[in-house]
Amino acid sequence: MQKIDWDTLGFKYMDADCHVRYTWKEGAWNSGELYESSVMNMHIAAGCLHYGQAAFEGLKAFRCKDGKVRVFRPQENIKRMAMTARRTCMPQVPEALFMDAIKRVVNANADYIPPYGTGGSLYIRPLLIGSGIQIGVAPAPEYTFLILVMPVGPYYKGGLKPVKALIYDEYDRAAPNGVGAIKVAGNYAASLYAHEEAKKAGYDVELYLDAKEHKYVEEFATSNFVAITKDGAYVTPDSHSILPSITNLTLMKLAEDMGMTVDVRPVPFEEIEQFAEIGACGTAVVVTPVCEITRGEQVIKIGENDGCGPVLQKLYEKVQAIQYGELPDLYNWCWEVPNQRVD
Ligand SMILES: *Cc1c(COP(=O)(O)O)cnc(C)c1O
Repeated sequence: MQKIDWDTLGFKYMDADCHVRYTWKEGAWNSGELYESSVMNMHIAAGCLHYGQAAFEGLKAFRCKDGKVRVFRPQENIKRMAMTARRTCMPQVPEALFMDAIKRVVNANADYIPPYGTGGSLYIRPLLIGSGIQIGVAPAPEYTFLILVMPVGPYYKGGLKPVKALIYDEYDRAAPNGVGAIKVAGNYAASLYAHEEAKKAGYDVELYLDAKEHKYVEEFATSNFVAITKDGAYVTPDSHSILPSITNLTLMKLAEDMGMTVDVRPVPFEEIEQFAEIGACGTAVVVTPVCEITRGEQVIKIGENDGCGPVLQKLYEKVQAIQYGELPDLYNWCWEVPNQRVD
């Protein structure tokens, strides 16, 4: 394997030694294999290429303080992929198969897990696609489930860095009864154009309002919206078109444990200027503070201190400490990967 400089790792694709891949055919999954090549053959008429049957997940393995390798909340990703599969007419990936796939691919690429203390982790990307030939619009007759891994660095090197968000009234991410709540690849296709425009205009992320009325806050393109009120409550929007973030679920539980009120409810756009702190949360970053939100001519500054508030900072530190095994794992969130390098 190549020599990896753990200090300069970002969030960028890098080949590991192998990925694990399974095929579903005639109602059953095969037993899967580790493949060294990162290139796979696919039929030009594969259903996923034409009609978007593609579900993905994102989770991380951490090299902990005690030297063991643990994956954070994999059961939640398995449940969520099951929901995505159901909504897009793909076969379920059984929990046992999924867990075995994680074990195989993480063990086979153990050299790529950043050492404890570097702030890095092994990003795990499961992918389920309709790989069978399908040119009439219908679910594909064959599926591929694979997991690739890559080492990633800490998102924030010298502390959390607040970002600026832009609200568009011209673009929506997810329809009210559409597929916003599942992790289907097409949701990202729907947000790419707005994201590129936002970047060109000098913003880091775009924030979406509900597609029906543009009255309520939904989420950022790739992360959930969370806010801390001036009296210290944790608020996150309630909507059927928001992707249920596992990081958000984690933060809510930790906030509750810290004695905070946790409110999952509709969040009107007008409420934004009232919040003490706003953050964007997801697996890749845990939580990014948002210091400014722009909609048309209106520029809303969030909180003091340029938006890097103490509550989100504290929650961020807690999540990381649990992930690296520095704090007790009270809810069994961390799954220790059985250490056996066989295949
Ligand atoms: C994946 C994703 C998130 C974050 O979910 P986590 O489980 O916390 O990583 C948020 N919003 C969207 C649209 C996503 O696809």
